[in-house]
Amino acid sequence: MRRRNAWFLFILFVLLLVGLTLFIRQVLFPALGDRLPGRRPPADSLPAPIDTVPPLESVFQVHFIDVGQGDAILVRTPRTWTLVDGGERPAPLLDYLARLAVDTIHLMVSTHPHADHIGGLPAVLRSHPVLEVIDPGVVHTTRLFTRYLELIDSLEILFTVGRAGMERDLGGGARLQVLHPVEPSDRHLNDASVVTRLELGAVSVLLAGDMERRSETELIERQIPVRSDILKVAHHGSTTSSSAAFLDAVQPDAAVIFCMEDNSYGFPHEETLRRLHERRVMVYRTDLNGTVVVHSDGMDYYVETGRGEGQPGSGPLPHPHPTIDINRAGLQELTRIIHVGPARAQQIIEGRPFGSLDELSRIPGIDANRVEDIRQQNLAFVTNPTNP
Ligand SMILES: [Zn+2]
Repeated sequence: MRRRNAWFLFILFVLLLVGLTLFIRQVLFPALGDRLPGRRPPADSLPAPIDTVPPLESVFQVHFIDVGQGDAILVRTPRTWTLVDGGERPAPLLDYLARLAVDTIHLMVSTHPHADHIGGLPAVLRSHPVLEVIDPGVVHTTRLFTRYLELIDSLEILFTVGRAGMERDLGGGARLQVLHPVEPSDRHLNDASVVTRLELGAVSVLLAGDMERRSETELIERQIPVRSDILKVAHHGSTTSSSAAFLDAVQPDAAVIFCMEDNSYGFPHEETLRRLHERRVMVYRTDLNGTVVVHSDGMDYYVETGRGEGQPGSGPLPHPHPTIDINRAGLQELTRIIHVGPARAQQIIEGRPFGSLDELSRIPGIDANRVEDIRQQNLAFVTNPTNP
């Protein structure tokens, strides 16, 4: 009887051990690949799996796909797939869609009719059900563009001329706002770009197409809220876009530049990189980092690259003296602080009082490094809340 008890206890112990191991593997340390939709892709062209614990639950993903020449951005929410542009050649894009097992494209946005943005789209239209296409509605005379329009027509896909003020619900707390254009011209195709701002809960991404300075100025003059956590840099990092005034309005923490290795345009331009670096923006480039994926849980985000690290900015000139009191400033004023957008500003207001700048690390998404950036910026300060 005592022997049977001993065996019983031993078996119970083994079962508990196996159960505990499975629990730790499945629940506490799930592999990133399991979180991506569809099958796990081969390691060569997709970001390498992270072998540490992902810092947050990947509810939303924005894939900046390395398609060589051109832009291709795939947005995944729990309910929908959105494709913004399709690169110049279809093969890398179709390959990527297949690896993520994308079935239906709920929304396709073609920012403007240049080949490096719509080249891959006809193949996607033929191979995937597409529910709606948003297009700037400007005239272009290439065979590629005609073929793309004819396909949309023959497949009877809803064709929407994208204009500022439109909005689409992408499900799961994500939405896409069209910020631009208002009245595009056929003669300035880059400035006809459909510019969108993606909201994934509190995390925002600005997709700037190839718009140039005149559109950036127009957005600022129209007082459109462009402030975003992540910026898809306009026109492959050309210096004809990304003006200082525009970057100051967007205040991105991170930026993604689509550019092919050794491209003949010299993209991205040094001047653009310098403007980003001065503003402490973390810069990711498809020529250096391959495909870049932003994962978000709707509160914060992290960036996964196919290879290498992003390039951290060297930082702006510090302000001469701090002027924003963390314990008293209004929401708008708080957003002037680096790494602070409207959502975090609201959390700061709700989290008051703060005894020191270090305590800002209580706010989700502000870690010790970002507190250091805030200190370096020399704009924020803390008064003693009880003894002003
Ligand atoms: Zn382009």
